[in-house]
Amino acid sequence: MDLALLDQTLAAHGEPRYRAGQIWAWAAKGVDGYEQMTNLPVALREALAHELPFSSLTLSEEAQSSDGTIKALFQTADERPLEAVLMRYRDKRRSICVSSQSGCPLTCTFCATGQMKFARNLTASEILDQALYFRRIEPLDHCVFMGMGEPMLNLDNVLAACERLPEIGITHRRTAISTVGWIPGIERLAEQPTPLRLALSLHAADEALRSELMPVNERYPLKDVLDACRAFYERKHRRVFVEYVMLAGINDRYQQALSLARALSGGDREGEPSIFKVNLIPFNPTDSPYEGSSRESIAAFRAALESRNIPVTVRLTRGRDIDAACGQLAARTA
Ligand code: SF4
Repeated sequence: MDLALLDQTLAAHGEPRYRAGQIWAWAAKGVDGYEQMTNLPVALREALAHELPFSSLTLSEEAQSSDGTIKALFQTADERPLEAVLMRYRDKRRSICVSSQSGCPLTCTFCATGQMKFARNLTASEILDQALYFRRIEPLDHCVFMGMGEPMLNLDNVLAACERLPEIGITHRRTAISTVGWIPGIERLAEQPTPLRLALSLHAADEALRSELMPVNERYPLKDVLDACRAFYERKHRRVFVEYVMLAGINDRYQQALSLARALSGGDREGEPSIFKVNLIPFNPTDSPYEGSSRESIAAFRAALESRNIPVTVRLTRGRDIDAACGQLAARTA
């Protein structure tokens, strides 16, 4: 719900300030509406139901994959589209992937969101309402900011939303903020007292190829970005996740795996475990010119990294049958 509007509405009704906390606590527990908030006066519940939409987002479309993944396409009150995904894993983890912006100004060439028109930053309430939508379905325990948008370009609202995520059940240790390498944002995240995790969308160790895939690399070259990640580790002692989307014939060759291993090893003290952990992401084909790497190429890439002592996981593909990659649903319906 729009938390700023909630404060105004309560003030207009002459309600004490603690009411906002009571209402938020109910929402964070996953109730469906004001009528279930039994410690509020009935008249106030009725007034809120008339005056304040329970969510700042309206659901436009929802798709459920055969693997249990749920993807929701929402609209803000000013009709800006955004997406969020709930991923269900066999080990019972329930992880949500949320958006920080409607559209994205950074135009990475492999990304459906990057091909859409950028609308605006989302408010903290709009970010939280994505989490609350899924919390109403079931308890949640992990969150990644890897949906639409570059979170570091909207860091105030992202951090404000993160402050409240533990009340929804998602601790800061289980919350990861992803960036394409926006160095001022990485530096600011390192200064936060909270143990939020950092994920870097890397995708190519070669500067020229990375600039081709991700124009932001012209502004913040990978070498400097990795230095900022190392500084983050020094300060927070939290391993940095590296996201690497596997594009056939583009960034998935053996030599490119070795270059990546070299780039990530630079600066590590000999004999110490890597401060980076690589997630290889099978590519969900979009309307882009790229195709996903074969299983064999991904396995060979992984083996090359592991042979250089870089920890690697291959991300499980979730929701392939429902356009679950960043921006795919919104781009299709735009
Ligand atoms: S990958 Fe992320 S930063 Fe790049 S265009 Fe897509 S949403 Fe924006």
